[in-house]
Amino acid sequence: MPELFYPIPLGKKFAPPGVELSGWREPEDSHRWSVGTGAKLTLHCLAVQDGPRYLILRLAAFVSPGKLPGQLVTLSVNGAQAAVWRFNSPKFVCKALRLPDNIGDELAIAFATPDAASPAALGLSPDPDRLGVCLAFLALVNNRFLVRLGREGLQASFANQPEFAAWRQGQELASIARQAYDCLATAKWEFPGFCAVCGRDSVFAPRQDSPPAETGNLREEMLCRSCGLNNRQRLLFAAMRETVAANSDRRRIYLYEQASPFFSEATARLKGCQVTGSEYLGPGLASGELANGIRHEDALSLSFADHSFDLLIAGDVFEHVPKIEPALKEAFRVLAPGGRLLFTVPFDVQAPTSRQRAVLTSGGPNLLMPAIYHGNPIDANGSLVYYDFGWDLLNMLRQAGFARVRCLCRWEAATGHLGTDNLFFQADK
Ligand SMILES: [Zn+2]
Repeated sequence: MPELFYPIPLGKKFAPPGVELSGWREPEDSHRWSVGTGAKLTLHCLAVQDGPRYLILRLAAFVSPGKLPGQLVTLSVNGAQAAVWRFNSPKFVCKALRLPDNIGDELAIAFATPDAASPAALGLSPDPDRLGVCLAFLALVNNRFLVRLGREGLQASFANQPEFAAWRQGQELASIARQAYDCLATAKWEFPGFCAVCGRDSVFAPRQDSPPAETGNLREEMLCRSCGLNNRQRLLFAAMRETVAANSDRRRIYLYEQASPFFSEATARLKGCQVTGSEYLGPGLASGELANGIRHEDALSLSFADHSFDLLIAGDVFEHVPKIEPALKEAFRVLAPGGRLLFTVPFDVQAPTSRQRAVLTSGGPNLLMPAIYHGNPIDANGSLVYYDFGWDLLNMLRQAGFARVRCLCRWEAATGHLGTDNLFFQADK
């Protein structure tokens, strides 16, 4: 059975080949809207092949909180009802459908949107069209294609935003393929893979408190059933392990965390390494002080001597430091020549520059934007986010003295690194 991957992007950039559209507006950059209560796409001249086949869709519905709280969307395939969805949020989601074995050489996909409404009637904008669904892409795939895609995976690395943008230009269709894979894999709720932390086969599952991930943003998802670490934590752990394995004489590691499963796993599993960890416990302590067995360190003034470590690991820490430049200079200072800093942060690939959300004053944080807090194992109130990082973060690292500064991206099914935001950062001294 040959591979089947038939992507149909609905934005401006690609004219969908062999597709007849009715009930749709002119395309916008990356999607198009259905108008009225029904819209249809008919695919002609499909190379019909036997075997399982899935239809993947990335779509949103016109929903406006308070004005139009939800929309019912019914999807039919060749005249038979295939799915009924209720959209209660304007966010894009991916949906996967198993197609009938014998669909013939024409595939008619029809959307019924009885709740479609116009922004004008709701007082939102002058737009008079009754909007139903907003479709970014359709894709038809079979198992053979998915198996190969999952095996190949993706690793890429970028020194700056233009490099990333140039790479992504050529990735539109590949990105649809990966999103299709993400959608099918996560629709199964739990799926098997090799955990780089545990060093053996495991099962990845969503967080207990979250619905099945439909959006492709799987960064905080896919918790290993054994070690409990999520996608981004396992990614950072894998990068740490690879660095340790490649530099057998460089074994002094500092983690910007201590009261966490990541720290416990690192101390238990990195044999022959000297692992130091710490937390930020508040302004009343001096760096290096212990409280209840936890070491306090302020990332802006670490207590360690120059050149104390070979490897620094910071998992979603730097967005919480009140001043990023001095924190990076401190990291550079305590690293030995030839050492490496590896970290993750929430990162906006669209943003050339970082945004500061708050400034720390003697009276406490002064908010420049609405406060965002992230979970903190040692503080029930969470940690305030001081920065939304963009690409100038890489130049800040260079200004702090680091060389070979890279943003790395990894998508790999076998090790449970799915989703579009698997980024981490690497900088060498
Ligand atoms: Zn694990």
